[in-house]
Formats: sequence, C-alpha cells, structure tokens
Amino acid sequence: ETFLHRIRRTEPHLHSFLHVSDAVLKEAEEIDRKIERNEALGPLAGILVAVKDNICTADMPTTAGSRVLEGYRPPFDATAVRKLRESGAIIVGKTNLDEFGMGSTTEGSAYQVTANPWDLSRVPGGSSGGSAAAVSARQCVVSLGSDTGGSVRQPASFCGVVGLKPTYGRVSRYGLVAYASSLDVIGCFGSSVADAGILLHSISGHDRFDATSSKRQVPDFASQFISKDFLESKPLKGLRVGVIRETLDDGVDPEVRSSIRGATSHLEELGCTVTEVSLPSFSLGLPAYYILASSESSSNLSRYDGVRYGNQVAADELNSLYEHSRAKGFGSEVKMRILMGTYALSAGYYDAYYKRAQQVRTLIRENFKDALDKNDILISPAAPSAAYKIGEKKNDPLAMYAGDVMTVNVNLAGLPALVLPCGFVEGGPNSLPVGFQLIGAAFEEEKLLKVGHIFE
Ligand code: GLN
Repeated sequence: ETFLHRIRRTEPHLHSFLHVSDAVLKEAEEIDRKIERNEALGPLAGILVAVKDNICTADMPTTAGSRVLEGYRPPFDATAVRKLRESGAIIVGKTNLDEFGMGSTTEGSAYQVTANPWDLSRVPGGSSGGSAAAVSARQCVVSLGSDTGGSVRQPASFCGVVGLKPTYGRVSRYGLVAYASSLDVIGCFGSSVADAGILLHSISGHDRFDATSSKRQVPDFASQFISKDFLESKPLKGLRVGVIRETLDDGVDPEVRSSIRGATSHLEELGCTVTEVSLPSFSLGLPAYYILASSESSSNLSRYDGVRYGNQVAADELNSLYEHSRAKGFGSEVKMRILMGTYALSAGYYDAYYKRAQQVRTLIRENFKDALDKNDILISPAAPSAAYKIGEKKNDPLAMYAGDVMTVNVNLAGLPALVLPCGFVEGGPNSLPVGFQLIGAAFEEEKLLKVGHIFE
C-alpha cells in the first residue's frame, strides 16, 4: 500500500510507468496467507519489482515503448519474469523506455517522457529511464532494465542508483523484445549493490528457450557479502584496479572526472592498487556499436509487419498493409536505425561497414582481455556528464549517441559491469548524481559486486 500510494503521488510528475499492475495487493495478501499458514516463502517474497516494458509479461501489456505494439499482451512471461514470480516477487508494473530501447533519455518513447527524480526538468537517462527513475523515487524496491549499449548503466548514473549489466548469456533473453541480439542483456537496478546482486541471482541461469544463455553455475552473488566480518577482513587488499585512460580525456565533464578521481582514491584507501591502463581501440567502439546495433535491429524489427503483432493499418493489398502498418507504427528514431542498418548490410556496403565493425569488435574484445589479464577490474565514468535537460539533445542524434561512449564497448565485449553512485555535480535546484563503472572479466559479476559493496 505504501508503494502504491507513493506511485499515485509521484507518477503525475515522473511518468516512470506505462502500466501499473492491478494485482499488487491481491498478490501481497496471498503472501500474507502463506506466512499465516507457515508455508515456505521464496527469497523475494513480497518484494515489489518494476519491469521495463520491453520484457514480456503475461498479465500486463508489453509495448516496448512503441505504437507498433500498442495493446499487445504477450501470451507468456519472459524467463526473467517467470523466475521473479517463482521467487515470490510482485511485479508492480511496466516502465517507460525509448522505443525498442533505442535512445538514451526516454524521450524516444511513443507514449511519454520520464523525468529525473533529482530534477524534473532533466532526463532520467535511457533507454531504461523508467526503471531507473522508479527505483530512485522509491516507487518500487528494485527493477529490471535491458542494456544493449548502456541502457541500464547510464540511467543508473543519471538517477543515482546502482545498475548492474551482467555478462552476455548470464540471464536468458527469452521474452526480451529483441533490439540487437548479440548485445542485448537484461540488467538490474537497486538502491544498493546487495539489492542489485540479489535480484541478478534470482533471474540468472541457463534456459532452454535461449540458446545463448550460459550453462555456467550461478554463484550466490550477494548474500555472502552481507556480513560484518567480511567487511572487517580487508578483502580488497592487493586488488588490481585499472583506470581506463581513454575515458578521462577532455570530452568528459571536469566535475565527472573529479568524482571518478575521488572514487579511485577511496578504492586505494580500501587497499586496492590503482594504475592507469590503455584500451587503444576504445574510441572505435562507438561507430562500430551503432553500425552493428542498427544492422541487427533492422533484421529483428522486420517481424513487425502488422500481421503477427500489435497494430495493423488496413489496406487492400498485402504490401501496402506492411508499408502502412510500419510507417504508422514506428517512430522516427527507429526508422532511422532500420535505414542505417539496412544500408550497412546491403551488398555493396557490407564489407565497408558491417564487416569492418565486426573486426573492430574483435579488437575491442582483445583490448579488454589484455587489460583484464593485468588487472582484476577496470574503472571508467558511466557517462561523460550528469543528467542533462529534457529536450537538450532530442534533435541532435549524434550528440546523443556520443553520450554512450563509456558503455558501448562493454557490450561489444559481452562483459559484466556495475555502475554505482560516486559523487555529485552542480546543476539545477539540487546537485545531480554521478556514477562510475566497474568492469570485470566475463562471468565475474561476483567480484564486481564485492568491490561495489565494500565501496559503498
Ligand atoms: N543509447 C544506446 C542506443 O540507443 C543504447 C541503448 C540500449 O542499451 N538499449 O542504442
């Protein structure tokens, strides 16, 4: 009731939710009854989880922020949602996002713009802006987002919460509306590292419905760190931390840079050995990401033909039905990505764009491998600036894309990364939060969570 009340009070200002469940109290009462009957409870019993609206839920609509899927009700739960329900969690609603996850502000949603709870005139980041704002404003306890090129980490930084992008394959993508399948992962938001870790634990693991999900054992990500003895044992002594040199150049807001420096000195105080490390191909990541993500999306989005899903515009001939349904259903950013992707994949340009971007992807993966052979974790800002004004970059896609420079490389390499708050910059009526990013080797979420937990 407390959460529902807060949602009613704050939603008119924030617009984080596209849909709020009407079953929350009923599900909570069911848990009460289980307690009365002394029945076993799942690890997330009664925890309110908000879910990004590109993750399928059988009892609520799933629009992916697009008109093309307006009114669509999936006949199934995404595996991550099914696992949450099996753990006793209550899905409180579906959160706003940039259409199909394409954007960095939620301004690209076909339905509404979400505001940043720290300053309502600013963006919450994106594309999982609704999920980040919901945790930040305590409209829920934790939330799920998706991260193709930074969509969990950048909004976590803008909204002052913890954001966790798992290793590619750690969490099943079954039921996640596909944007760029080789990059997409479902990620977690929480107000503490332990919350994000516990949430990740409940949704991780192999799934026979997603051939790219990993069969690796899932460690108990968070519970072992919740002990006083653990914190007193100086567990970070000798941990090798590499600060990525290319992420602290002049393009980064000076206040963000100084927050990152503050965070690294804190890590040194905790016993870490901090050095600088270079990723020579770092700056190639952004163009390679936008070519690959657009290419994959142009293929993935071909399924929205007005016949199989969502909205249809009637026409007397099949091709015009496709054409009109897509013309009306997709927003302008999505259309631009489909055009860019189709162009990059077309016979005459494939070698120059798509193939070359794949080669860059290999280079970036090798750069990370070298750096992570010499370091336990790597560090960078989560974004070059704090949250900016609504409207500021809306009509300048290149400026918006440039804001993803800190995060896209991690997706190209499939690595896990954790963003947590590390300071504030001046701006608006309040100071604005800034986050920093810890990057680990594949499947080493546990190490990131350990460092993050001790850091906070
Ligand atoms: N802003 C990036 C894009 O538009 C990343 C989005 C995401 O991670 N879903 O592609």
